[in-house]
Amino acid sequence: MNDIKIESEHAVISPLHQWWGVDAARPWLVAGPCSAETAEQVMETARGIASWAPHALFRAGLWKPRTRPGSFEGVGNAGLSWLKEVKAQTGLRTATEVATPDHLEACVNAGIDLVWIGARTVANPFSVQALADALREVPHMPVLVKNPINLDLELWTGALERLQQAGITRLGAIHRGFHALNPNEYRNVPHWDLVIQFRTRFPEVPLLCDPSHISGSPNLLPQVAQKALDLDAVGLMIETHINPLNAWSDAAQQVTPEHLKRILEALHISKPNSENPVFRDKLEALRKEIDGLDAELLNVLARRMSISRKIGAYKEAHHITIFQLERWMQVLRDQKQWGMLAGFSEEFIQRFYEAVHQESIRVQTEAQNRKISPEEGKG
Ligand code: PEP
Ligand code: MN
Repeated sequence: MNDIKIESEHAVISPLHQWWGVDAARPWLVAGPCSAETAEQVMETARGIASWAPHALFRAGLWKPRTRPGSFEGVGNAGLSWLKEVKAQTGLRTATEVATPDHLEACVNAGIDLVWIGARTVANPFSVQALADALREVPHMPVLVKNPINLDLELWTGALERLQQAGITRLGAIHRGFHALNPNEYRNVPHWDLVIQFRTRFPEVPLLCDPSHISGSPNLLPQVAQKALDLDAVGLMIETHINPLNAWSDAAQQVTPEHLKRILEALHISKPNSENPVFRDKLEALRKEIDGLDAELLNVLARRMSISRKIGAYKEAHHITIFQLERWMQVLRDQKQWGMLAGFSEEFIQRFYEAVHQESIRVQTEAQNRKISPEEGKG
């Protein structure tokens, strides 16, 4: 492989372009229909994309996991030759979803360039392990792992670990949102906090976003894509169809190649880092200020906890429970009021005070177990 060095804040990240030695600009684009339907639909869509995005990867689902039997379940192996033809005629690299070792074998034989593991498959460790075992035969096949349907970071992490343990070298991840029980504006709710946790666990694994399955409709695509790029996603997978309204699957969320071009052109694309010394100095100064405030913040919290310890001991001496619902509700109500006046979101204040309160209960319990006197009050 031709090793192109692409500047990065992260020492070990392997930008996706390096997998094929292509030096294409971010964001790395994976575009194409939800499902391959006919040879013409596949080729026309690919031509539409290739005309302005020659480095894009062309996606098309061949084996479609559907909730109930009877819906369109994909054209299967028949579509492999269509993808081959796309590559031959447009030069676009090709990608499809694999759920079983048989799918993988068919893709390898057909010269598919990249495979991804879908959200339903990632939710099943048996299936992921079977794929990981089969991938041992082709350890350099690029594999993207979608987050599982259910909001479970461990399951996503586990899938990555299974593939890493099988020696797969070109691994990436895709955030496609999580199933939500309550109706909301998204088809699958994004959890950017989880994405940040995921990236902290796997700094070397490039992360893409699939705004199509998050949004469920074209109108949310731009804002979701922008959010992903702002959080340093290296690429976007966006479902693109020559005739979206007549698509055989996910008709509500696909866009035409021209529409996709307009969406991408309107995105603000930032780099993860800059060599400009003025920018770096200014950023460093601001970060020093933040570091100072963080130290202050922890000091204040430590003082707050030492009072909690005193309270814990005092309550025990008077046979009072550690948790008192009314007091907790009052703290939350007051702090939400103040916090929102200070410009914080209600959700932030809720989460922040839940964490502070939990820690306060923990230190009160600890103080009681250690039998700290109310006067002493520190652990
Ligand atoms: C897809 O990309 O078409 C797909 C089925 O996605 P997911 O696995 O994220 O639902
Ligand atoms: Mn789809």
